[in-house]
Amino acid sequence: MAVQPDQQWHTMDADRVVEAIGSSPAGLSEKEAAARLIQYGPNELKQKKKTSLFVIFLRQFKNVLIYVLIVAMAISFLLGEVLDAEIIGAIIVLNALLGTYQEVQAERSIDALKKFLVHEAFVVRDGEKKKVHASSLVPGDVIEVDAGDYIPADARLITISGLTVDESALTGESEPALKHVAPVPEDTPVGDRDCMIYAGTIVTAGRCRAVVVSTGMNTEIGRIASLVETGVDRQTPVQISIDRLGKLFGIAALIVCVVIFIAGILEGQKMFDMFLVAVSLAVAAIPEGLPATVTIIFALGVRRMASRKAIVRTLASVETLGSTSVICTDKTGTLTQNAITVRRIATASGIVEVTGEGYTDKGQFMAAGTELEPARSGELWTLLTVGILCNNATYERTGEDYRMLGDSTEVALLIAGAKAGLVKKALEEDCPRELEVPFSSDTMFMLTANRCKSGYVAYIKGAPERILDRCTHLLTNGGVVPLTPEARKRFIDENQYMASHGMRVLGLGYKQLADLQSETLADAETGLTFVGLTGMIDPPRPEVRRSIELCQHSGIKVVMITGDQLLTAVSIARELGIYSEGDEAITGTELAAMSDQELSERIMKITVYARTSPEQKQRIVKALQQHDLVVSMTGDGVNDAPALKNADIGVSMGITGTEVARQASDVVLADDNFTTIVNAVEEGRTIFNNVRKTVIFLFSSNLGEVLTILLGILLALPLPLLAIQILWVNLISDSLPAMALGMDKPDRRVMDRPPRPRSEGILTKGLAIDIALIGIVLGITTLAIFYLYLGSGVDYARTMAFATLIVLEMWVVLICKIGSDSLFSRKTLDNPYLLGAIVIALALLLIVLYVPFLQVVFSTVTLNLRDVGIIFGVVMGIAVVVEVIKALMRRIKV
Ligand code: ATP
Repeated sequence: MAVQPDQQWHTMDADRVVEAIGSSPAGLSEKEAAARLIQYGPNELKQKKKTSLFVIFLRQFKNVLIYVLIVAMAISFLLGEVLDAEIIGAIIVLNALLGTYQEVQAERSIDALKKFLVHEAFVVRDGEKKKVHASSLVPGDVIEVDAGDYIPADARLITISGLTVDESALTGESEPALKHVAPVPEDTPVGDRDCMIYAGTIVTAGRCRAVVVSTGMNTEIGRIASLVETGVDRQTPVQISIDRLGKLFGIAALIVCVVIFIAGILEGQKMFDMFLVAVSLAVAAIPEGLPATVTIIFALGVRRMASRKAIVRTLASVETLGSTSVICTDKTGTLTQNAITVRRIATASGIVEVTGEGYTDKGQFMAAGTELEPARSGELWTLLTVGILCNNATYERTGEDYRMLGDSTEVALLIAGAKAGLVKKALEEDCPRELEVPFSSDTMFMLTANRCKSGYVAYIKGAPERILDRCTHLLTNGGVVPLTPEARKRFIDENQYMASHGMRVLGLGYKQLADLQSETLADAETGLTFVGLTGMIDPPRPEVRRSIELCQHSGIKVVMITGDQLLTAVSIARELGIYSEGDEAITGTELAAMSDQELSERIMKITVYARTSPEQKQRIVKALQQHDLVVSMTGDGVNDAPALKNADIGVSMGITGTEVARQASDVVLADDNFTTIVNAVEEGRTIFNNVRKTVIFLFSSNLGEVLTILLGILLALPLPLLAIQILWVNLISDSLPAMALGMDKPDRRVMDRPPRPRSEGILTKGLAIDIALIGIVLGITTLAIFYLYLGSGVDYARTMAFATLIVLEMWVVLICKIGSDSLFSRKTLDNPYLLGAIVIALALLLIVLYVPFLQVVFSTVTLNLRDVGIIFGVVMGIAVVVEVIKALMRRIKV
């Protein structure tokens, strides 16, 4: 049947919509979905058009510096200095080409990132629930959406349970809308169409099944928003401060240039020469390539992080990651494997151990060392049945293998049931679900009402204390009996036993209901019959212990915040090294009772927060930030979003997290693994270090060039470097090494240091001194060589100064790389890009020195072997002196 995108779906009953759109309650077939995908195209909003290469190239000319160069070129041309004009022109173009290359690289890296940020959706096709990319949805698809999900397309609701939707993206209304399935009148505005859900809005509570009616640009959001942007390309604080620093440096340089120009003229230098020198000095001093280089360093780092499974959503977070001083992490799935298995069951008759590993139905139920036939124990049988019926996970079975879909706690219950031969589909056929109170981290339980042969039955499962509180009776093999205080205590003790052995514990219960009309769901939540407890193990991830050690070694505090109970949390925290003697562990209730003052006093000691509600995470973030800590916080649920936003780094889960949490976060863990956060912090530190190295290199080289000229003029010497030579050094030979510095590998000791303080910018006092010292060494050495060779003619002396400066800068790039380490260590040679860039820069120097045509252009002369020897000798001499000083300083520090 043809689909009409503009049909009034909200006025029709759900079954009529399903029929009219050519679908069925079992969804479309895969074949039909594929055909419709071709017909309607992918379910995507149009992306912003890509900037063309030409536009990027033209953009390179939008720079004050380039304007200065263009003026210089024009003046040279007017004065008849055609060669100079041509050279400046060539350099402008070369510089623009390099800038274009850098920008394209940066854009590519960011694009590569965006591809990680795809949405997923649950769809029913051929009667089976599947997870697909939201872009492959088509009109007619039956989708299932849960609390925390983004709604992937416009759809007509079929069934709902407690569904509320935040439609602010579409309507601006911040109060979540309560949804119903009944049709609404034709003229109802979009914001009031309660039976519809719209793409781009968020499910704040409940769940639903709906049939897609429009996708992509045909959705309501598609009509109003023709462009989608992601936040990936926002500037980072470092980028902003580098821009500012560059401008500051530029202004200072311009003043110096004017002074040099005037001083030169007063000394009797030719006005035109002085003009060109002043212009080239300006070019030399202003680190115009720095912003683009820094963007590339960030973008490449982000790509490296992605390959280590940390998907960074904003460039700014890369930088903050590097200064993380506290990691607040949840437990299930992040610290543990999320491979939850029911191990122990407690019912009225006692304890049953469950054997068997992994997602198979192989396993036995053992009571006091002997195998128990589940069908012979009414308690055990009922407990497993409750666990399966009050459950939203599903699985497909092919032979021996189970492919599980859904929450891992619920998956564990399905598997436990399967070990007793209980199959969800068959149970649900006998007892179809009529209503559901979905699980939420606040209530900590889930309840369903099912229509069974014996009448309506409510099934409940959740945190043991919450379930026990609602129960008045107990199921025994002999029938239902009142739940005595002794029996209650026995279960509380057993819960403590399980929890102190690191188990996740659930309580299960049920209640026979009269009918669903007279008895409300609230009634169903009280006066229940308790069936028993299940203790599940979820082993810690093996690699996490080492990562936690690494954090502690590098001054990063690790805190566990979990919805699970205290004993379970402490047991796992202790095993992983998060909790040790002297630390504190508190529950959400204790936290709620604490004043801000008390929390602030104790917060540095607390390493475990148990039974915490997502709302409390915000308070923890704030309290930690008051201690000037840079807080990274993980979260996966809808209610975690505010804490993720408020934390310095919000971290969400790529596999198990909700879409809302992902959108609110700065980093998405593709593997949900704690170790990935630590890897990302390490990368963040490396990126920051690399930016720093590049800044030191470019600023000190620029300073060296300015000083050479300035001192030359002050000493009334001829110009030590010609304009064209300065332009060459700065725009061509420095660029590649600067970029390559940014690709340096993580330093083995990057995690040996404590986190960088929040207030520490890219340039510290110490670094400014380093830059000044290097600049002075460069300036004085270059000028000294020039002076010594003046006797052989100015061109000769300039060629020597020019070559010395470039070779010296190659040494500078190496010392920027290794920092306080020795130049003679293996680390000097571990960045092939840098070695390549140095070789290229030196090769370019040789070309300028020895190709006759370029000798004319650059006014260079052929240097003989002795000259080359002198240059390398001088540079090596300086290198050795610096190494000796560094070695002495290292020794003093030790
Ligand atoms: P974390 O991921 O930090 O370890 P958590 O997953 O343990 O937290 P929640 O998901 O909020 O935290 O669960 C809190 C408690 O609710 C659990 O300890 C458990 O008792 C109960 N619970 C968890 N999942 C379900 C579920 N699907 N149905 C019913 N109860 C559940």
